[in-house]
Amino acid sequence: MRRKSKYKYNRNIRYSYSGVQNTYVNHYCRRKKKSKKTIIAVISVLFLISAAISAFLILDGMSLFSINNTNNSNINRFIDFDTTKHMSYSEDKYETKIYESERYLINYPIIKIDEIDREIKNEIEYLAKCAEASSAKYTSVDYITETADDKYLSVVFKANEYDINKNNTVSDVITMIFDLESKKQLESEDIFNNNFYSFASEYVRNYFNNNTDTKKLTSEESFQSATTANKLHFEEFSLNNKQCTIYLNQKAIFGSGNKIYNISIPLSELSNFLNISLKEAQKGKTANPSIRDDIDPNKPMIALTFDDGPDEKNTQIILDVLQANNARATFFVVGYQAEAYPDVLKSISDAGCQIGNHTKNHANLTELSDEEIKEAAESVDKIVKNATGSPTTALRPPYGAFNDKVESILNRTPLIFWDVDTEDWSDKDTEKTIKSVINQAADGKIILLHDIQDSTAEAAKTFIPKLIAEGYQLVTVEELLYYKGITVGGGETYPW
Ligand code: ZN
Repeated sequence: MRRKSKYKYNRNIRYSYSGVQNTYVNHYCRRKKKSKKTIIAVISVLFLISAAISAFLILDGMSLFSINNTNNSNINRFIDFDTTKHMSYSEDKYETKIYESERYLINYPIIKIDEIDREIKNEIEYLAKCAEASSAKYTSVDYITETADDKYLSVVFKANEYDINKNNTVSDVITMIFDLESKKQLESEDIFNNNFYSFASEYVRNYFNNNTDTKKLTSEESFQSATTANKLHFEEFSLNNKQCTIYLNQKAIFGSGNKIYNISIPLSELSNFLNISLKEAQKGKTANPSIRDDIDPNKPMIALTFDDGPDEKNTQIILDVLQANNARATFFVVGYQAEAYPDVLKSISDAGCQIGNHTKNHANLTELSDEEIKEAAESVDKIVKNATGSPTTALRPPYGAFNDKVESILNRTPLIFWDVDTEDWSDKDTEKTIKSVINQAADGKIILLHDIQDSTAEAAKTFIPKLIAEGYQLVTVEELLYYKGITVGGGETYPW
């Protein structure tokens, strides 16, 4: 049985199917942790053997459940299963168990791979205990299966509880994923790396935010805390050839309700987060992922940022130095320059560098009307998107000037400022700029420079290799935040 850390060995806590604590359900069930071959386990087994033998003797002859004998049972008449469709794996074979009390029924797949069928049986015994402990009149557990690349099998169990009036009072989902080649059950961490959870959190929040029915609920603190980038919040999911579906319990995220939300993410968007190889995800892998995977989070890193470009010649000089040093930076571009040099925008993007928004006319945003602020940002996005295919992913207000209004209007991307001002724009002196960068360099710093200055482009030829020689990884702002584990939402500011 799969280890799920949310199932703590605490006998005093009652759990429902997927571990969502639910006062209505009053389940005693705990999910068992995957057994490890420890000495303790061996000793326990020895102790338990005699007890187990007696238990089997008692159960023998009074079979806990009947198989494929569903037609005339109370529960079958109560719950209409005619519409049940199993998107079944290969041979479309499944069994139904109706438990003795006729209070619960479980459909489950037969995969015909012993190791996997054994895990599934363990799981349904667990589900049966949950149903047994439930105060519901009837419980049904049904399932679907999905496969990805004919190698990964997902089994999605959905439990529904009904009261005496046939109202579906509680629903929950439990998923299992198997590797059909190794015949082993996979844990979340076998499938996703740790960076998946920030992505999933944002994806799910956007999903509910874009849905008119749930939009107003997304500001609730309970929703926010139930959707943080935590592995435990995104444990129930399935995979097929095209997408990963995350299952979320309405009660768990909104405090009440019995809906299950199925949120599907195209695999092509998950290529940076998968520990397994899936064909569709490979397609999504670009030559220049915005977050490189060869950055060492334990080594120092710096984000160089260049404002006020793109420049006709200096931007390319800086890009050449960056590329020669396997380095990246962020360019905050202004509208009038971007409009004049779209091919330079493309070069920035092709070099894997990040493009930020520095507004249309470099105006002080705090002096503009709401409409003007919006237009100042959106017009640049249009130009950048036309040139590179993607809009900007950060915004730096000119002069570092912002207020609450600016933050609330410019809420699509983070607002990024700086730790170090090199004053290259006033010095216009190559040597001074080199010194300023090198003397103020430190791990995690965002350094402000300007690629429209000849002296800065000249200085970059020296300070970029020098920073690398000193052990710094030169990253984009996006990479810096990512590897430092800092989340900056749309309209939120950093590092101020
Ligand atoms: Zn500027």
